[in-house]
Amino acid sequence: MSEDCIFCKIAAGEAPADMVHQEEEFVAFRDILPQAPIHILVIPRTHITSSADLTEGQEWLAGRLITIAKSLAEKEGIADRGYRLVVNCGSEGGQQVPHLHLHLIGGRKLSGSLG
Ligand code: AMP
Repeated sequence: MSEDCIFCKIAAGEAPADMVHQEEEFVAFRDILPQAPIHILVIPRTHITSSADLTEGQEWLAGRLITIAKSLAEKEGIADRGYRLVVNCGSEGGQQVPHLHLHLIGGRKLSGSLG
């Protein structure tokens, strides 16, 4: 755990969050500033700063982030309509919180723009 990381604190239950999924290595919670009716963040409990810090052998982790998001999309009733999965990396990638996270965004028609 990284001491001043808000997402580490949420994963450890030391900071509040609207939790929607918990398992041994991952948690998912609603974004505090949702960009769409459904906006959920899926994170590993382990502190990994960004996708740039993933190492060989962690493919399972990247894959599990996506399959959790897929399951949550079904649970939230947006799987058939479609949704967007986003991973921002680093300052030019628009990453604000330096703990790897996957955005699950949906529930409205999203624009085609990627930035
Ligand atoms: P990113 O720009 O990819 O780093 O996204 C970080 C996201 O985390 C933003 O959408 C924020 O609204 C969200 N966020 C920041 N702090 C919290 C928090 N305490 N609980 C839930 N979401 C948060």
